[in-house]
Amino acid sequence: MRIPKGLVLMAAKIIDGKKIAQGIQDGLKKEISALGEKPCLAIVLVGNSPASETYVAKKLQACKELGMEGVLVRFDAGVKQAELENKINELNADSSVNAILVQLPLPSHINEQEIVTLVDAKKDVDGLCLLNEGKLFAGIRGLYPCTPLGIVELIESVGKIEGKHAVVVGRSNLVGKPVALLLLAKNATVSICHSRTKNIGEHTKNADILVVAVGKPKTIGAAMVKKGAIVIDVGTTKVDGKLVGDVDFEAVKEIAGAITPVPGGVGPMTVAMLARNVLAAYRMQKEEAAGGKRAGSKKKEYVEDLQ
Ligand code: NAP
Repeated sequence: MRIPKGLVLMAAKIIDGKKIAQGIQDGLKKEISALGEKPCLAIVLVGNSPASETYVAKKLQACKELGMEGVLVRFDAGVKQAELENKINELNADSSVNAILVQLPLPSHINEQEIVTLVDAKKDVDGLCLLNEGKLFAGIRGLYPCTPLGIVELIESVGKIEGKHAVVVGRSNLVGKPVALLLLAKNATVSICHSRTKNIGEHTKNADILVVAVGKPKTIGAAMVKKGAIVIDVGTTKVDGKLVGDVDFEAVKEIAGAITPVPGGVGPMTVAMLARNVLAAYRMQKEEAAGGKRAGSKKKEYVEDLQ
């Protein structure tokens, strides 16, 4: 193809999740130091999978850097359901604990849904208990999942969401479904694709905003992306010891308007949003303890209103 004289092919803007997350954490650090006390996050870790150990270490490190208290509650991989449930009930009742996160996945003999649902909605900083999921669905004030919140921040760092056509590939409770609901709450027109969707490219090619959360490298190639689209790659898969996303980054960056790298895109935002949720949980508990007028509000209030 002859490229007309003077026409410059523009590669996509690379969205620097690490930098954006750092900016958010710097702001949180100031807010937390002004509180005069340390919000406390308890992390429940079962077993010792290397991936979970790494994620938990990052979360505890962030607590330390931001002036929050991070408490690790460890169990052997063989822990019984009842033992875990007792601990969650104990943490729910402990007024010195503002936030609870159960590191997933849990071993297969544990009913994961029952455990995450047991976490007190006011302390549920992963936003996975049924009450918080319902609040997200209904668009009322609650704690929402961290990775989807981070994805919204990344998109808003490069463009507006309202009125755009957003396509989400993946429909998990952790990422796909909540990010689709958040984008809908921000007035995008949202399509959700999954493993049974026929001709995924026909959908993704029309997306102004494309979020991919599948966990399979190269799910999205250049021919599946609209020119100038904002592409958020959530996937993380280890290939030959290297972390790769779901999007063929090198090819797609020549088409997209903006794109997140893996690593350095969505990952750092998840930790920043967790810290923001811990502070939000702390504030909601203080408000409620003070008989705050907003506790239990039925008004439509979206994400930014929480912070
Ligand atoms: P998940 O629970 O395994 O869900 C994967 C989704 O992808 C499912 O909805 C599945 O569809 C869909 N899917 C599978 N194959 C597909 C295909 N060929 N075409 C279209 N859709 C397909 O995974 P997840 O928890 O959502 O995580 C997704 C990825 O994000 C993983 O790589 C995970 O490691 C990563 N992640 C990263 C972060 C971070 O902070 N960076 C956080 C969370 C997750 P069905 O529903 O039809 O099966």
